[in-house]
Amino acid sequence: QTAARHLNLKSELPLDPILVQGEPDLLPMAVTNLLSNACKYTPAGGMVQLRLFTDACQAIIQVEDNGIGIPDADLPYIFERFYRVDKQRAKDTGGFGLGLAIAQQIIAAHGGHLSVKSEVGQGSMFQIELPF
Ligand code: ATP
Ligand code: MG
Repeated sequence: QTAARHLNLKSELPLDPILVQGEPDLLPMAVTNLLSNACKYTPAGGMVQLRLFTDACQAIIQVEDNGIGIPDADLPYIFERFYRVDKQRAKDTGGFGLGLAIAQQIIAAHGGHLSVKSEVGQGSMFQIELPF
């Protein structure tokens, strides 16, 4: 899908694995939901970056894109079920507005935190913090 959409995918991963305790089926789903959004909301020629590192006593996963971004006014709501910023701008993507709500529930259930920084026209960065 990303190849067809001409996105550049980059990842920065540590040489040694980072161990966190969690549901092996659920944690990847949270990351996948963020990656799929980054790809969906970034126009052709854009970039999606995945980063994984540790900070003090947490694992940090960042999914960053240089896509369309999210208006400040919408940021407080994007983690709510069925909330989509603008049905028009995302009309071919046909989502339900559930991906972020699911990701947030999964991360919260693991004692972690999901946050976002975004600027319209510049891109978005979603960050997962997970305790060891
Ligand atoms: P679904 O994930 O259920 O297929 P969705 O992608 O619309 O549908 P969410 O993943 O919950 O739903 O995201 C909610 C809304 O937040 C999206 O509709 C989109 O407007 C906005 N959004 C999410 N991620 C990004 C991103 N990386 N860049 C720009 N907008 C985003
Ligand atoms: Mg989504």
